[in-house]
Amino acid sequence: MIRQGLPVWIAAGRGWARAGLRLVIAGMLMLMLMLMLAGAGVAVAADTAQLRALEASLLAQMSQLASDDFGGREPGTEGESKTLRFIAKQWFDMGLVSGTNDPGHAWFAPVTVVAREPAVSTAQFRVKRRLITLSGDDALVLTSGRRSLIEGAPLVFVGRGSTTPPRTELAGRVAVLLDRHVPVASGAAGADGGAQANGVQANDVQANDVQANDVQGSGRQNALLGAGASAVLTVLDGPRNLASVAARRQRRGYALASEALGGDLEGFVTAAAFDRLLAAQGKAATSLAGLEAEADAPGFAPHGLELTASLEATTRETTIHTFNLIGKLPGRHPEAGAVLVLAHWDHFGTCARPPAEHLICNGAIDNASGVAGLTEIARRLAHPPMGAAALDRPQFDRPQFDRDIYFIATTAEELGLLGAESFAENPPLPLKKVVAAFNLDSIAIAPAGTPLGVVGIGMTPLDAGITQVAREEHRVLVKSKAPNAYIARQDGWALMRHDVPAVLVSSAYGEIWRLEHFFDTDYHRPTDVVKPGIELGGAAEDVLFTVALVRHFADARKVPAGEWRGSKGK
Ligand SMILES: [Zn+2]
Repeated sequence: MIRQGLPVWIAAGRGWARAGLRLVIAGMLMLMLMLMLAGAGVAVAADTAQLRALEASLLAQMSQLASDDFGGREPGTEGESKTLRFIAKQWFDMGLVSGTNDPGHAWFAPVTVVAREPAVSTAQFRVKRRLITLSGDDALVLTSGRRSLIEGAPLVFVGRGSTTPPRTELAGRVAVLLDRHVPVASGAAGADGGAQANGVQANDVQANDVQANDVQGSGRQNALLGAGASAVLTVLDGPRNLASVAARRQRRGYALASEALGGDLEGFVTAAAFDRLLAAQGKAATSLAGLEAEADAPGFAPHGLELTASLEATTRETTIHTFNLIGKLPGRHPEAGAVLVLAHWDHFGTCARPPAEHLICNGAIDNASGVAGLTEIARRLAHPPMGAAALDRPQFDRPQFDRDIYFIATTAEELGLLGAESFAENPPLPLKKVVAAFNLDSIAIAPAGTPLGVVGIGMTPLDAGITQVAREEHRVLVKSKAPNAYIARQDGWALMRHDVPAVLVSSAYGEIWRLEHFFDTDYHRPTDVVKPGIELGGAAEDVLFTVALVRHFADARKVPAGEWRGSKGK
């Protein structure tokens, strides 16, 4: 990359020429020009060679991390052990120390992730002595906890849930809710914030209606549960059917093991099955059509049905033991705070099924590129490029930076930023000591020379420092806030939620269409592999720029700690 400055010198030189001195000055200028050109040539060659070497290092590491041998780096698998060993060995060799601040777990901070999916679902109803069991084709019962059970609870019909009955009517009972919302006459807006499906016909089933009903449905359910109902039984008389509810709810969910569990019980029943239950009520027999008419009539009041329900749901849990890798370059004045650099090491493992030939999601760009970048940043900070002297000694013998610098390879990002969340919930240092955090995710997108985009621009107190470093490094910063559209899709967000100023500064966000092209093609697919000629120009420049950022923010004179905490939230 050609440095700025040269054309300015030439322009200034023209103004200096005066009669009499013209020849002398012209000669001096010529000499200066030649010296500068020679100097610039050397600098350019050095820069180019440095960038080429850096690209080669990134490529070598990505090839290893994204190899089939590492199996797509899935948390809790052999692929994780290989990945962590590969990264940790390099960090150890370059002289980092453990950053867990936990002698029992040096380097590797345990993260316990729980995968949950619905298991048992039982729905039984009783009319007087008669027991009616609904099959899985007629009903689905789900719990937000491990196991929830109610036995012989009376049903109370609450119509379309536009008003929530008082606690005395709901406590210990199963609220029966009609799923379909009908247009409400003006001035009679529902209590759930006007979430009516304006004019949607039941037979006009579109994805949007199903989605709208999902949102409305869960809002009404929560209101009823909050008001004391033991469970909510939703009668699927609208756009949603059992298959669409199941598809949405039976996905595996992941959470940290420390996360509190609810115990809510929700049931869904088809309109036809519910009609059969109503018809079985003997003398009190009604029909779904009858109940719907009732619910739509003015002055509708909730009332009991001659039915009781026994509902049970359980959740299958799988515990995954995985790790964040945390290394540190100790600073001279750790009391002045710390700078964090992070990248997620995990990906999806095997993600395709036969007959596809390649079944592994190798995650070359997402995020072998970020991890490789993280290691190269650590290498440059641990071994500053100055002479060959004493570089076999670890940096921490003579710390060069005021602040501690933490390097974190996070786990379970793909499962919901869980590794970063775990770091923030159980940090090795008080989080308020963190002056700045820089995340690297999917950085191998753009060619060299691409401007830098900032995910989190305008949201932290870091902007001024980043702008200053960009000026010093002759890099163009994009002022657009377009990258912020991705703020919640990267680990920095987990830190931001804990009030840590975290940004992602990368050429990958400099021209958003490049990133979007990746999202449209290889992203989260088995084709995200190290392809011949993979673009690493932007990634190499990102590494060098992040090194400069860390140097800046680790300098307590350039960035006094108080100033940053004090200006937070502006
Ligand atoms: Zn991803």
